[in-house]
Amino acid sequence: MKISEIIEKLQNERDLSDSEFKGLLETDAFDHLLHQAADGKRRSIYGSEVYIRGLIEFTNYCKNNCYYCGIRRDNRNAVRYRLTKEDILACCEEGYRLGFRTYVLQGGEDPCYTDTVICDIVSEIRSRFPDCAITLSIGEKSKESYKSFFDAGTNRYLLRHETADDSHYRKLHPDSMSPDNRKRCLYNLKEIGYQVGSGFMVGSPYQTTENLISDLRFLQDLQPDMIGIGPYITHEDTPFSSFENGSLNLTLRLISVLRLMFPYALIPATTALGTIHPQGRELGLKAGANVVMPNLSPVSVRKLYSLYENKICTGEEAAQCRGCLERRVSSAGYRIITSIGNAKRSQSKNDDTRTTG
Ligand code: SAH
Repeated sequence: MKISEIIEKLQNERDLSDSEFKGLLETDAFDHLLHQAADGKRRSIYGSEVYIRGLIEFTNYCKNNCYYCGIRRDNRNAVRYRLTKEDILACCEEGYRLGFRTYVLQGGEDPCYTDTVICDIVSEIRSRFPDCAITLSIGEKSKESYKSFFDAGTNRYLLRHETADDSHYRKLHPDSMSPDNRKRCLYNLKEIGYQVGSGFMVGSPYQTTENLISDLRFLQDLQPDMIGIGPYITHEDTPFSSFENGSLNLTLRLISVLRLMFPYALIPATTALGTIHPQGRELGLKAGANVVMPNLSPVSVRKLYSLYENKICTGEEAAQCRGCLERRVSSAGYRIITSIGNAKRSQSKNDDTRTTG
């Protein structure tokens, strides 16, 4: 089959054979056509709307030692910080004023934030901002912990599977971490009723096209509401410091493929995409993404949440970031919507925030 026919098949059937995926992912000759098809699909469901999520990076302490990540436990050069509950609430306050209706609390796996501490923070945000969605992204926890965060008022959870292939997973992580556990966490989150986000890095060390196809197959099984992907970007204080960054074009191609496979998904144009190319996020939107996640963390700690090098948006206040993104989104031909922004057809059982306009 010709690549143009493969794109048409993906558009109509939302699926391809492994060899068709391989053909599509390994050529850049049809990117324009692919992006167009994906943008058409996103516009048929979401119009030109782009949802915003306020990202609060509240701790860079981490007990894990992922080989690719700048805040890994063994990076002695990382200057560590933690935000207090009051700091976090101040970020939410500022975010609310700027029109944010979703807060994403992300951090390393920091034992200091016990379940009780997390639940206390979440309940306080829930009671102060009842019309907002609360998203957690704090890694692998037990099902009981996830249940307690949910009961405290959390609606969504982001946990990228990173790579669906077992042997590739083991090349990116020490033995203390397992691909099975990460996947189990995602199914547990879904069972509890969270709107779940997963995803992977593009161009992580040792990644093959076959690995990427496994990622797509895993997502087909999981059926997440959100799918976050971004290029791998090197960090000098990790064991992977000598590897190259992931490719812009392959990331964009995958965004389009994901949009055609999962027409209703919430797909962010990520900070990592904006870091490898000055117009990366705009290009991501044009390739099918429909979410942006500006930073609401205090400027004083922004540089310290350094997962990878040269991360963008570490210098501006939240309001400046918000304004800058507004311009970028409209320059790409879309517009920011300040609603809670659930997926138009969510997989989740948790319906209680769905009505907010
Ligand atoms: N501790 C949380 C949050 C991790 S940081 C968790 O385990 O889910 C969020 C994401 O950043 C990770 O899931 C990973 O996909 C991405 N990331 C980490 N290091 C990166 C790097 N060097 N380049 C690009 N993305 C990276």
